[in-house]
Amino acid sequence: MAQPQQIVTRIAPSPTGIMHIGTARTALFNWLYARARGGQFLLRIEDTDRARSTPEATQAILDGMRWLGLDWDGEAVSQFARVPRHAEVAHEMLARGHAYKCFATQDEIEAFREAARAAGRSTLYHSPWRDAPDDTHPDGAPYAIRLKAPRDGETVINDAVQGNVTFRNDQLDDMVMLRSDGTPTYMLAVVVDDFDMGVTHVIRGDDHLNNAARQAQIYRAMGWVEPVWAHIPLIHGPDGKKLSKRHGATGVMEYAEMGVPAAAMRNYLTRLGWSHGDDELFSDAQALAWFDLGGIGRAPARLDLKKLESVAGWHIAQMDDTALMAEITGFLALTGQPALSQAQHDLLAHAMYCLKDRAKSLPEILEKGQFALAARPILPDAAAAAHLDAVSRGILRELTAQLQNASWDRDTLETTLTQGAEAHGLKFGKLAGPLRAALAGRSVTPSVFDMMLVIGREETLARLTEAANRDG
Ligand code: GLU
Repeated sequence: MAQPQQIVTRIAPSPTGIMHIGTARTALFNWLYARARGGQFLLRIEDTDRARSTPEATQAILDGMRWLGLDWDGEAVSQFARVPRHAEVAHEMLARGHAYKCFATQDEIEAFREAARAAGRSTLYHSPWRDAPDDTHPDGAPYAIRLKAPRDGETVINDAVQGNVTFRNDQLDDMVMLRSDGTPTYMLAVVVDDFDMGVTHVIRGDDHLNNAARQAQIYRAMGWVEPVWAHIPLIHGPDGKKLSKRHGATGVMEYAEMGVPAAAMRNYLTRLGWSHGDDELFSDAQALAWFDLGGIGRAPARLDLKKLESVAGWHIAQMDDTALMAEITGFLALTGQPALSQAQHDLLAHAMYCLKDRAKSLPEILEKGQFALAARPILPDAAAAAHLDAVSRGILRELTAQLQNASWDRDTLETTLTQGAEAHGLKFGKLAGPLRAALAGRSVTPSVFDMMLVIGREETLARLTEAANRDG
């Protein structure tokens, strides 16, 4: 178990589908909080719902966590594997008089509710077994274990984000903790697991705020110290409605597949619902230094894909080339594209200085860097081919000859090409189209000089010659 003072946070996703960006953000907040304070960040897979939990969904969570760079301490815990322990705690509560055996059948509970509805009373179930003496219990009949929740007064959750949130106890029923088939309910499992795992801070979506009141009752009944609660507002779409597919991608790996670098996604998600003054763009180190529960807002954050794009652009421009190459390698593998050869890898890394400045995603880098990845013959696309007429091919041929012995630096290349253009009464700009077509087969590329410097003399001359000699 964790040391008393050490901070322990966790993410506890249910493996029932993709890894939602809301889950990713919650994981990130928990990770930042623990990592900056020398604490532990744990992962628990809430797989008790056997019908809905799949191994693929568990894998999707692990993949999402790894992609985002959120390392967790120790092994991922399976909630299902801990069912015997959950049952043990339910029985302990029974022994301590904080819970009771409820022999009511589903039909009886339904009948109670119907009668309450008809009489206009609250339909919260009041079990007749709450105070029934043991000797009135039917022999061998199945029973659920219910919490003997306080009937009067209030349960107050002191929440680090929401403030004090008060629940009237007469509006909370004696919840079932262990069903009559011996399976624990979610509410019990979460509390037992969080306690056993030494979780000190429960940072999660505010859709769990109502659960916190019920969970707090279990902590209090067991005499366990409650964690710090921090319920964060959910992520909404740009229209202020609950985030859904129609707003765009909701799975974190969809963003990976779009080519958002993980560092940018971390920055963007950190800022989604949390703020530090006006800071929008920051490094992991800054996020770690700044992140605190006090900076979490009370209003739902809105997803803003334009902003994500600009955050991605900033990170790409900042990132060192080795890190970017690693991102690109991961992106190609993730999207099922062929890996780069060593030569392509080296050339792209060499070109990175002129690719990363205005790129907003990894595929944009690959697109701009296409000239470095392509092999001869460079086949011009339609727009580029339009620049290669007989006149421009003639000029390319001349330039090829002039570049033969030019020293291969930016100044010399600029002078040589500018003079070459002037010899035909042209500005250099007029030659850029044919040169781009020859060097990249495209009409939109990095600067001609950058391309020439990256691919080098031999390859430049070969591409120019090829284009000059191509018919039509
Ligand atoms: N398993 C819950 C979910 O995926 C989270 C429970 C919790 O964080 O306490 O929403």
